[in-house]
Amino acid sequence: MLVADLLWKSFFREHDVLIKWLLLFAGACALYLWIKGKKQTKLDRDEAAKLKAERSKVVEPEVIVRCLHCSVHLPKSEAIQQEDRFYCSRDHLDSLDAQGWMGSAAWRISPNQDFRAEDLAPDLVVIHHISLPPGGFVDRSSTQFIVDFFQNKLDVSLHPYFQEIADQRVSSHFLISRSGEVYQFVSTQKKAWHAGVSSFFGREKCNDFSIGIELEGDSNHPFEDIQYSALAKLSAQLSAVYPTLQFAGHSDIAPGRKADPGIQFSWNKFQAKTGISLKKIPFGLDPR
Ligand SMILES: [Zn+2]
Ligand SMILES: [Zn+2]
Repeated sequence: MLVADLLWKSFFREHDVLIKWLLLFAGACALYLWIKGKKQTKLDRDEAAKLKAERSKVVEPEVIVRCLHCSVHLPKSEAIQQEDRFYCSRDHLDSLDAQGWMGSAAWRISPNQDFRAEDLAPDLVVIHHISLPPGGFVDRSSTQFIVDFFQNKLDVSLHPYFQEIADQRVSSHFLISRSGEVYQFVSTQKKAWHAGVSSFFGREKCNDFSIGIELEGDSNHPFEDIQYSALAKLSAQLSAVYPTLQFAGHSDIAPGRKADPGIQFSWNKFQAKTGISLKKIPFGLDPR
């Protein structure tokens, strides 16, 4: 035992430097392998993430929608959405479709409508004002009451005035709110019930051949600029489809019985914004 011990000790003494180098080399190897292992784990993780992303791409195909104006199919990400409808272009969103509905309007279908005579294209726009209750728009938005009224859904318990009009069945084609939003209730190809007993240069029952546009407001407050802008745009959009359209107020076709759109409606401003020729505004531009 003693001899073996002595032999080991002398071996270590003689090879002292060599052993140190060997130990250093082994340490360096261990460090290299550890770093390499770490790198490999990261690469594996990246590869797995890439695979996962690719797989999820395959699982979720692009949703395809249809333009309500021209029926072309296109990816949802490229379509313009208005409510639950899709359009292929701003041009198609901003025009009347083949069924008489304006793409950019909010659609709130009214049951108060009936058929026009076959092939009859409207040639008159009747401008109105409405406010529910009267003056209600001054303090807060009352647009929803008008929408409900035209859909026969008005909650009459909400205001005494609503009880007075509870049994009326009326509608218009369009409503322009105080903030310039455009609502549509009836296709321009159908009759809306807005004019009542009326006459346009000897032609009775103006509902038969007209399009009704309501402006949210009354005879005591100026209409908003944004309402004139929306009305001008809508008038141009309608004239593009019905080039013979003329423009009149409800009071022009039902004098003595109706007073809207009233003294606050500026026909001058309307004409200036639209550029419509004076021939198409046969009752003139004077306030009335
Ligand atoms: Zn289209
Ligand atoms: Zn009216």
